[in-house]
Amino acid sequence: MLTRNEIIEHLKNDNKNSELFSLADKIREENVGDAVHLRGLIEFSNICKQQCKYCGLRSPNKHIERYRILKDDIIHTAKHAVDMGYKTIVLQSGEDDYFSTDLIVEIIREIKKLDTALTLSIGERSFGDYQAFKEVGADRYLIRIETTDRNLYKELHPNMNFDNRIRCLKDLKELGYEVGTGCLVGLPGQTIESLADDILFFKEINADMVGIGPFIPHPETPLKDTPAGSFELALKVMALTRIMLPDINIPATTAMETLNPNGRILALQSGANVVMPNVTSTEYRAKYEIYPNKICINDNPDKCRNCIEAKIKSIGRYIAKDYGFSHNKN
Ligand code: SAH
Repeated sequence: MLTRNEIIEHLKNDNKNSELFSLADKIREENVGDAVHLRGLIEFSNICKQQCKYCGLRSPNKHIERYRILKDDIIHTAKHAVDMGYKTIVLQSGEDDYFSTDLIVEIIREIKKLDTALTLSIGERSFGDYQAFKEVGADRYLIRIETTDRNLYKELHPNMNFDNRIRCLKDLKELGYEVGTGCLVGLPGQTIESLADDILFFKEINADMVGIGPFIPHPETPLKDTPAGSFELALKVMALTRIMLPDINIPATTAMETLNPNGRILALQSGANVVMPNVTSTEYRAKYEIYPNKICINDNPDKCRNCIEAKIKSIGRYIAKDYGFSHNKN
């Protein structure tokens, strides 16, 4: 295990990057093996009541065509993904109150009739909601802390509250979910020290999954003129997360591939063991624009599946056939 100072040293210094990536790759192989878990991502609503300053879905953005995929269509999309071999469905959206507790419960019930694990990524909800979703079979929940720097969190999330985000993570753990969190890399004003604290935070809350992505500026947000985060730095934060949490699930994120055409493969070779291909139908993809130039927006679910399978095989890895529950035994 690395100390905070050692993590900071690695993040500041670029002359040992390739050793760092190889070490993370080796630790990944020893702890979670060569299997790559695919999670089929359904982006079912881009309607959001929040105003996160980096995100293109923020409610003040009027230059975006909003959509909501209705229940039957979500279930249909999930069924197609399961037929294609996905063993996990991820339901992601903005914070859209149209999707009431009861409606989400109904959707979970239907999807859990299929042969699949289910992950939710729908933002901050009450303990009661999280409990209701768990009772009908939701297995996992993703909610990134985004940054552990409280002042920066406050600056970037008007009307939101850092302590409530922590409360969500604690509630989800207490309810027995596998909990995924993570951070953005390259936010304006974010320090290297705070990135080290993010990694220590993932360990402290005993995360089962951690997603790391570079910040990418969206033209219709207050951060439109902020430069994008560095691919290399995001990869280093990810590799260090693997070193510090050897047996968790770590996705090669889509944002990494947006900044580097080989980003997901490089991530899979630097500690990652999960990929989350988009299974949303083509008509909605471009509209789920959390950041610009998202990959695969003109593709369909079948094409994405074949493309990622070929990439994974090309580096001597294989697609897992099991549900991919976390190995985290802590
Ligand atoms: N509403 C859900 C899902 C958010 S979208 C929630 O609050 O959890 C999923 C992730 O996209 C976010 O957690 C954030 O880290 C990332 N994201 C948003 N805007 C981004 C941007 N401009 N660049 C890179 N990643 C971004």
